[in-house]
Amino acid sequence: MTRANTSPKPSSGPVRERPARRRPPFDAAGAAALAAARLPRPMPVAVRENARAKNVVLRLIPGQGLVVTMPVGLPPARLAEAIGARSEWIAATWDRLAAEGRPLEPGLTAPRPENIVLTAFGRQWDVAYAARDRDGCLLTARGPRSLLVSGAVDDMAAVAGVLTLFCRDRGGALLKEALAQVSQETGLPYTGATIRAQRTRWGSCTARGRISLNFTLAFLPWELCRLVLVHELCHTRELNHSARFWALVEEHVPGCRELDAKLAAARHYLPAWLGAAR
Ligand SMILES: [Zn+2]
Repeated sequence: MTRANTSPKPSSGPVRERPARRRPPFDAAGAAALAAARLPRPMPVAVRENARAKNVVLRLIPGQGLVVTMPVGLPPARLAEAIGARSEWIAATWDRLAAEGRPLEPGLTAPRPENIVLTAFGRQWDVAYAARDRDGCLLTARGPRSLLVSGAVDDMAAVAGVLTLFCRDRGGALLKEALAQVSQETGLPYTGATIRAQRTRWGSCTARGRISLNFTLAFLPWELCRLVLVHELCHTRELNHSARFWALVEEHVPGCRELDAKLAAARHYLPAWLGAAR
C-alpha cells in the first residue's frame, strides 16, 4: 500500500532570492526568565533556539533543571504558552525526580539514609557513619543488621556508591534465590540469571531462557517483585506479550494485570539516595 501524499508539491520554478531580513540576536536570558515565570516550581532554566526544531521541546535534567529547545524566531508569547500547557507534567516530573533523589536543582541531594530496607525480603540494616580522612567511602558490616560507612561520608555520591554495591550484592543474591524458588513453584525452568542495574527495566529474558533482574526489585513489596520473577519465567515459554503470555502469567499470579499497573508506578518504592550514586 502506498500512502497518498496530500501536501502540495514544492514549486519547481526558479527560486527568487528574498532579501535577508536581519533578526535581532536571540535573547536567551530573556527567554529563560519568561519561561521561569510560567513554571510550577522554581528551577534553573536554559532556552536554546534550534534551526531544526519544529516545536517547543522541554527536557527536565537532574542537576540542570529545565532545558527548552524551540524553533528559531518563535514569538515569546508562544514559548510561554507552550510551557504553561506542560505545567502539570513539569510539576509531576519534578516531584518524581526529587523522590528518586535526582533533584533538578544542582547541588541538592537526598539525605544519607539511616537504614537500608530490602522490602521484598524483609531484610533491614541500620547504617552508621564515621568521617575519616580518606578518598571515597568504605562499607563494613558491624553485625548481622548493622553497617558502618566510613571515609568521605559528606560526599553523597560516594556514600550512595557503597550502599548501592551492598544492595546490589545482597539484593542480587536474594533475588537469585527467589527466582530459583519461584521457578520450582511454577514449573518454569530457566537457564541462568544475571543481576543488573538498569535504570528503566525490572527484568528481561533472552530466547535461550537467561533471565536478567534489576537489583532494585529488592526494594519493592514482595508481590510486585514476585510478579516480575513470574513475568520473566513466563517469557521462557512465550517470548512476547501476547494474550497467551498474559494467560500464563495469570495462572501463577491471579490478578496479574492490576498488579502490573502498580508495577508501572512502583519507582517510588526505591530509596531516594539511590539516585545519588554515579
Ligand atoms: Zn516482558
